[in-house]
Amino acid sequence: MKNANIGNYEETYHRFQWTDAEKHFTWAKTDKVNIVYEAIDRHVEEGKGDHPAILYWDGQREETYTFADLKQLSSQFANGLKNYGIQQGDRVFLFMPRSPELMISLLGIIRIGAIAGPLFEAFMEEAIKDRLLDSGAVAIVTTHQLLSRIPISELHELKYVILVGSEEVESPNQVLYQDLMNHSQEYTIEWVSRETPMLIHYTSGSTGKPKGVLQVHDAMLHQYMAGKWVYDLKETDIYWCTADPGWVTGTSAGIFSPWLNGVPIVVRGGRFSVDDWYKTIEKYQVTVWFSAPTAFRMLMREGNEIPRRYDLSTLRHILSAGEPLNAEVIRWGEEVFQQPIYDNWWMTETGASICANYKTIPIRPGSMGKPIPGIRLAIVDDKGKELPPYEMGNLAIKKPWPAMLRTIWNNPERYQEYFINDWFISGDKAYRDKDGYFWFQGRKDDVINTSGERVGPFEVESKLIEHWAVAEAGVIGIPDELRGEVVKAFITVKNGVVPTEKLKEEIRQFVKENLAAHAAPRQIEFIDTLPKTRSGKIMRRVLKAWELGLPPGDLSTMEV
Ligand code: ATP
Ligand code: MG
Repeated sequence: MKNANIGNYEETYHRFQWTDAEKHFTWAKTDKVNIVYEAIDRHVEEGKGDHPAILYWDGQREETYTFADLKQLSSQFANGLKNYGIQQGDRVFLFMPRSPELMISLLGIIRIGAIAGPLFEAFMEEAIKDRLLDSGAVAIVTTHQLLSRIPISELHELKYVILVGSEEVESPNQVLYQDLMNHSQEYTIEWVSRETPMLIHYTSGSTGKPKGVLQVHDAMLHQYMAGKWVYDLKETDIYWCTADPGWVTGTSAGIFSPWLNGVPIVVRGGRFSVDDWYKTIEKYQVTVWFSAPTAFRMLMREGNEIPRRYDLSTLRHILSAGEPLNAEVIRWGEEVFQQPIYDNWWMTETGASICANYKTIPIRPGSMGKPIPGIRLAIVDDKGKELPPYEMGNLAIKKPWPAMLRTIWNNPERYQEYFINDWFISGDKAYRDKDGYFWFQGRKDDVINTSGERVGPFEVESKLIEHWAVAEAGVIGIPDELRGEVVKAFITVKNGVVPTEKLKEEIRQFVKENLAAHAAPRQIEFIDTLPKTRSGKIMRRVLKAWELGLPPGDLSTMEV
């Protein structure tokens, strides 16, 4: 058995209860709670103040911050916010590039019991307006370069714009970051209840208008344990999660899981190339690396020659989440990194990893593994009845769990719609095999019904990318009089491949012979790029709308 934090999976799963995790936290003794205290300050009090917490590099600027630095700086930021009358429960948004200032602001906001709303820096004006209006944000931390995308005159509740990296303000509601930081050097922490909100994350918008998911401080229990069991973090690790803090993976897996476990994180700022990915791993001797299928597919498309130029031998654990991880990508990982990539499944709404592959149980490529201890995961029908192995149904979680969303901001009705009895219904379709592994099939709305057979787009896409010419694929069902629906595939080809009619036929045959005749795409279209969300997910609803000539719906999160 490999030596991993999870130990014997089955044994841990059966033994563990969430109350067992509480004893790891200071608040179990003091009754005083704040995730920032547990993620930062306690390490300083335990004598680890000089341990690195952030290793920042954007190609030029290069800085290291210790836990003591972050305790100090985020206290200063917190004091600044208080000075402007910002208090517990207020929403303060973050709209800026990945940087130490982003991390410091995030900690400062949560430190005073306020609610942070991280936004992806690539968002355009409409996306920003929707989210700031919906959440009633009172302040936003941003940069001069992004200012023009914040429609301030339309945001009546927004009182302050905090500017990072500017020397002077241009209007009365602007505050300079460095001035805010200089109000008081005093240590500060607001003790809150476990149920106090800390974050609003808007979902990726793959299926429609993004929802404002509200998370509370209690999520730390789950984030801490996911850090141990799924990411297998140890204090000696150097951890790099490539997700932007604008998405739940970026804050939960990217920031809180490691810091709650006392582990330093690499923060890679700026835009970067394929070379830079490997360079970052080499430079920081990254040991645990967490990314997404879209990124792995991009690296895979560029070939195996580039990674050979770098020393990647420090890597000991590689993870993926956000989209299904194709078996082909796992095989590629084994070739290039001499180890598999471990898939784990979760959603903004779940707040942390729910289902995962672990180092101590065999990977079944294409499966998202087994539920983490403390989580009851099942396949249920539309009435909430549990289904037997191999039957496709709704992937559902028994409520509650610590990182579970507490509501949809401004939309309690939408929140109620997630539940059938005690089951949280994810919106994903999956099945469970007889050994308890879960297999993702597709989003509820994406599953294709052709000649009475149900086809999950993921399976077809995964088969397609096994073909030598295919880089990425997005598969949808299109209406057909005879068959109900037929499978259509949108395909991007690998560098240098010439897309021809003959190639289409060859690809179709490939799926027919290696998967199933009914799953083979009847139509194939080559395109330059697939429509994706900013978090890197294929937007099948957009493909479908293109195909049917319908309005595509909310595009605020689409990558352009
Ligand atoms: P929206 O809810 O706005 O439509 P979204 O569901 O893409 O967008 P997220 O919360 O960022 O927003 O993503 C969660 C979804 O991502 C899951 O419901 C699932 O469909 C997909 N997903 C995440 N991880 C995995 C995985 N390991 N395997 C398969 N699918 C995954
Ligand atoms: Mg969703």
